[in-house]
Amino acid sequence: MKNRIKYCIANFKMNLGTQTDIMRYFTVLNNSKITDNTQTEIIISPPFTVLNQAIMLTQVSTTNIEIASQNVNDNDSGAFTGEISVEMLKDCGINYAIVGHSERRAHFNETNKQINNKNKILISNAITPIFCIGETLEERNNGLIEKTLTNQIVNGLNAINNNIILAYEPVWAIGTGETATSEIIVEAHQIIRNILNDIGFDGEKISILYGGSVNRNNAKELINLNDVDGFLIGGASLDAEHFFDIHKIIEENI
Ligand code: PEP
Repeated sequence: MKNRIKYCIANFKMNLGTQTDIMRYFTVLNNSKITDNTQTEIIISPPFTVLNQAIMLTQVSTTNIEIASQNVNDNDSGAFTGEISVEMLKDCGINYAIVGHSERRAHFNETNKQINNKNKILISNAITPIFCIGETLEERNNGLIEKTLTNQIVNGLNAINNNIILAYEPVWAIGTGETATSEIIVEAHQIIRNILNDIGFDGEKISILYGGSVNRNNAKELINLNDVDGFLIGGASLDAEHFFDIHKIIEENI
């Protein structure tokens, strides 16, 4: 089943957040041979400091490219020093936001409840969450994959029934160079689609991306897997040429 929207999404994390960085990135983009009728949506997620500038660059870019934020606060406004509200993202022109990345769960103790609130506030403001889920190595070794994914999805998507992109990112594969095997990815994506169906989504319509050490050498094999609708890419996205090569590989294999 390959008629869902395909995505190639970059997560810069706390990198490429200066004006020079983002300008260079767009220069590579504009020099690449990506045409406007690409079937794979390209989204990049730079740090907050350059979101505005990135949005402006998309307006003069020769390729359709969307900008995502890497986070949002789940309150409307107020005394939350250092945080960014959904209204601020909207004002920048943001249409997508990463939510529930494992680094935020691990380093900033984000709970499924908070993640659910973020998903809700984004959707009610017409911003599509790129909702990240995935098991730790310990959970995998203890046979808790289905339980973990169910817990993350059921609680993270409470009272939500549309407008999301899912990213399956096994925590042990993120930034480690250790990509999940084809069997693991296919099994996890099938589990996720079943859970989505069980909680009232039309699972067949939701794009589920894989994330975890994707690069230009493994992208072809991974995009050909059943149920993989694109990638969320960290490390390899920091090199614009590398990222656009992966985009090309998706385009050639869908
Ligand atoms: C990520 O941070 O979402 C990610 C998938 O990182 P990497 O590609 O570096 O594993």
